[in-house]
Amino acid sequence: MSTHLGNLLYLIPIVTFILALRYLSNPARARRGNQIGAAGMLVAIVVTWIKAGAGSWWALVIAMLIGGGFGAFAARKVRMTAMPQMVALFNGVGGGAAALIALAELHRILPPPGRPEFDVSTAIAFSGLIGAISFAGSMVAFAKLQELIGGRPLTYPGQNIANIVLLVVLVALAGALSGGVQDQWLLWAVVGGGALFGVLFVLPIGGADMPVVISLLNAFTGLAVAIGGFELHNNVLIVSGMLVGASGTLLTMLMGKAMNRSIGNLLFGAFGKIQDGGPAAAAAAGTDGGTVRSASAEDVAVMLAYAHKVVFVPGYGLAVAQAQHDVRQLADLLEAKGVEVSYAIHPVAGRMPGHMNVLLAEANVPYPQLKEMDDANPEFSRTDVAVVVGANDVVNPDARNNQGSPIYGMPILNVDDAQTVVVLKRSMNPGFAGIENPLFYNPKTVMLFGDAKESITKLAADVKSL
Ligand code: NDP
Repeated sequence: MSTHLGNLLYLIPIVTFILALRYLSNPARARRGNQIGAAGMLVAIVVTWIKAGAGSWWALVIAMLIGGGFGAFAARKVRMTAMPQMVALFNGVGGGAAALIALAELHRILPPPGRPEFDVSTAIAFSGLIGAISFAGSMVAFAKLQELIGGRPLTYPGQNIANIVLLVVLVALAGALSGGVQDQWLLWAVVGGGALFGVLFVLPIGGADMPVVISLLNAFTGLAVAIGGFELHNNVLIVSGMLVGASGTLLTMLMGKAMNRSIGNLLFGAFGKIQDGGPAAAAAAGTDGGTVRSASAEDVAVMLAYAHKVVFVPGYGLAVAQAQHDVRQLADLLEAKGVEVSYAIHPVAGRMPGHMNVLLAEANVPYPQLKEMDDANPEFSRTDVAVVVGANDVVNPDARNNQGSPIYGMPILNVDDAQTVVVLKRSMNPGFAGIENPLFYNPKTVMLFGDAKESITKLAADVKSL
């Protein structure tokens, strides 16, 4: 296949990838977006294979069956609550692939009299470096989210300086590679050092900031892949890598905005670190002496059935309990009684961006009832009952009121503006950030302890009987 024809055919996957992103931005059309993207990827693989000389088609089919089979199996088997880990894992694999391709490319070119051009050696050096950082960082993020290692930030004095020194050395080595020192050991050192930096870079970041880290690492993978496109002279790789890089960067910025924190603070602030006698202790001290009121399902059902306006506030516990269908049924019962029902969605509720939207879409909750944080907050002051279903950090008023709190400044859902707040959770355990929540001690709040699915089922039965 000629280069021109190949590039022309590459326009098909390029257009489908852009369309896929467009569709993925809306939960109602996300599935179609995925299908369009997958079809485009198939075209990209086949065209690349033909361009590369179409060796054994069997090899291609077997490789696709192994990769596709693993992907399909993992996607079907993974629990909704483990999705962020899977995203971290898949992202890491992409970064690792970019690093391996860099190693293979240099290995292929170098035997005498081979000598990569400046642009190719630069691409090899930096796709190897960034790909290795993304691979190792994603694996640490995976291990933290999977609780293979602790989610709390691991810090030591001078950590940021040590990381910066390591990064500067690695960039210098990569620069030497592109400048003409073309030894394979040097690339191995860059890739190995990149992997070390990836580990050291993610270890100090607390579990609560993992979503931002994963989307940033996603941007790194995109960048590594795009640079790999220059290395292999492959346009579809350049465009698709940049699409991933740009969307990962935008998502990182949006998440930072949702938490009201700069990217620098997110990455180097060791958020979630518990300091003895420090801010977290101060946050906890604010709740000392308060009392927690717990209510029965019957009491809460009466409140709900006679309310004018009820807002459900879902959080990670909704995903754990898989209570989305039950919440929808309860909402239907309330609506049948003339209650106005809506759902307030915090951008970082759950464990991945859009987690709550996906769960509620699964239960066919009508989209107009889903209110994003900025639209939901003004509504709480005219809400009779805010029902917090397994959410904790995203409704923690310390983020608004307590300057000593590690989450101070993060925008939250102001459920305490409602007349009554009902919190459904199993215990007084903290949420992901590991900090106390004064909302539970607020005189307006009643706790309905138990698994969210069981509590909602009881509430629905009681509302029905009223
Ligand atoms: P939290 O993690 O703050 O709280 C979840 C609460 O759910 C817990 O307090 C837990 O309490 C309760 N819970 C767990 N299982 C059940 C169950 N079966 N039934 C009832 N309740 C249950 O969740 P939020 O959604 O409020 O906040 C998300 C947090 O996760 C934020 O800190 C965010 O930064 C972070 N994060 C977000 C990601 C994202 O992209 N959205 C990704 C990774 C982290 P109990 O054990 O007492 O039941």
